[in-house]
Amino acid sequence: VPTLKPQMPAPLQRPHVDPAPHLTSAGSCSDCGRKAVTAADNMLVCPECFALLRHEDYTAELRRKQELINQRMKETRERNRQLDQERKERIRDERRQIQQMIIAAEEKLKPPQQDKQHEDNGQ
Ligand SMILES: [Zn+2]
Repeated sequence: VPTLKPQMPAPLQRPHVDPAPHLTSAGSCSDCGRKAVTAADNMLVCPECFALLRHEDYTAELRRKQELINQRMKETRERNRQLDQERKERIRDERRQIQQMIIAAEEKLKPPQQDKQHEDNGQ
């Protein structure tokens, strides 16, 4: 008796993709060797394969930029943490001062110690 097996989908096979063409030091496409042309926004484009051409170390440049951004974000987080800590301490101080003021005010509002004369008048 054949048993029913769940059909597993075949793993997706991704075809090997060649690295994108880059701009050579001579200013041409690394793939087809054609001289790059300038498109809008000073982008360099290969007129043959229409690849957007960047210098080969462009990714390294991007990585450096990303690391710089990460570093800046880390510093900002640290600064925010310190500011938050200072804010919390300030709030704690203010709360303590207010509590002391309340205690002092309550002390003033306390009726002076009376003898039992007042209660006895109720008879
Ligand atoms: Zn090309």
